[in-house]
Amino acid sequence: MAESKISIKVYVDKVKKRVVYAEADYTFVDILFSFMTLPMGTIVKILGKHADTKFEVLGSLNNLYKSLKDFPECYLATEECKFLLLNPRNLAHDLCRNLKLKIDDTDEPIKYFVCPKCSYLSKLYSIFDRAKCSKCSELMNEHFSRDHNVASGGGGVFVSDISTFIVTDDFSVMPYTATGSFCLLADLGITDTNQLEERKLDLGCEQMLYLLKMALSHGSPFTRLVFHSVTPILDLVRPVQCTTFDKCDVMKKQASTSLKMLLDVSLQKSTGRFLFAEAKEDFVDFLFSFLSIPLGTVIGTLMEGASSIICMDNTFKSISNMSVGRYLKSQDIKDLLVKPHFGQDYTSQNQAFPLKGTISSLKLNFCGITSTYLPKDPRIKEVFLKQSGRFFVTDDLVISPASSHLAMNILNKLKVSFYDVEKYEISLGLEEGLRMLKASLLSGSTLSDSLAHQLKK
Ligand SMILES: [Zn+2]
Repeated sequence: MAESKISIKVYVDKVKKRVVYAEADYTFVDILFSFMTLPMGTIVKILGKHADTKFEVLGSLNNLYKSLKDFPECYLATEECKFLLLNPRNLAHDLCRNLKLKIDDTDEPIKYFVCPKCSYLSKLYSIFDRAKCSKCSELMNEHFSRDHNVASGGGGVFVSDISTFIVTDDFSVMPYTATGSFCLLADLGITDTNQLEERKLDLGCEQMLYLLKMALSHGSPFTRLVFHSVTPILDLVRPVQCTTFDKCDVMKKQASTSLKMLLDVSLQKSTGRFLFAEAKEDFVDFLFSFLSIPLGTVIGTLMEGASSIICMDNTFKSISNMSVGRYLKSQDIKDLLVKPHFGQDYTSQNQAFPLKGTISSLKLNFCGITSTYLPKDPRIKEVFLKQSGRFFVTDDLVISPASSHLAMNILNKLKVSFYDVEKYEISLGLEEGLRMLKASLLSGSTLSDSLAHQLKK
């Protein structure tokens, strides 16, 4: 079967060799907006499948994901914790199955598993095929496939199918109006329409993922796609801007109630350079839980549209400003995009962010009786890791169980003698947590960037 494609028109500035804007219908805008519903772990996973060695994106999140993949099972509360965090559920999955391109493998229906013995009583399901029943410890291997095609009401999933949209090269989206497009041209100093050339682009999954990748790294996704420009990797890592999180609503509400974690940071005595951190399970649990948070929640609820990932900040603001009814299909749809849900079973007690998960109940038919099933909680005492471990965390978020062999290795690699190491104890709260999340998206020096203000003392 031929792969579906969606068509957009781009307007190219022939002189400056850049795309000025794209004109697109709902098929493109729906997919662009659906990025907000994707958990960070899903983004790492799908971009990893289309790995392009020329472009490294997502700061340290790739390392975080890989660390969890390689993490010894014995440190995790249950086997399914790892599976669930590596394959976080998008609670808008049913809707996203109606998108024209399935960039997140959403075509596959989710499989649900229950315990063949106790499901009558426990009414619990898991999406992990090797989960063990919490009552009888047997494998939950009774399999259900739910037909969950949510009718999208025809046409658009998130936006109206009769509208045309303008999408700028930094992913601001607005309904098409002639005056709107003229203003845009004037803003960019284009007065002569002969300077412009119209081109038609047919986009498949590969091209949409490329656009996502560019949007998450150094911007100008359309220009990059059309002109295939390549820049050195160093340019892709934007320096983390110092945002004053104190002004942020999230901070005001939670400053006094957030939990504190301790971190032992080792620095090079002679230069003050960050070497590595040692942490307990609470900090590692907190870091791994980044993977389950949807992009829209990171950009909106936590960063308030100021994540420094300009394209995504713009898309988020465009959705927030777009009117319901005429362009966005309903208020529920808008809420789902700007405040995407994620499962309660994915929120660790150590998460530190004031986020509330949703309990994703499910109606399943078992032997002719339909009842409501709840997700089996993979956590123990609401955390993903067992209480015992001690771990090394590098600046770019490679996490491994601590050992002296590993400590020597890290020092050797950084060419630092162990005489030249000093240790500081640092306490982390919500503010540092937010800095760390932001730096994990943008920078390969996540810990030193986000702790700089504490390490200077
Ligand atoms: Zn059972």
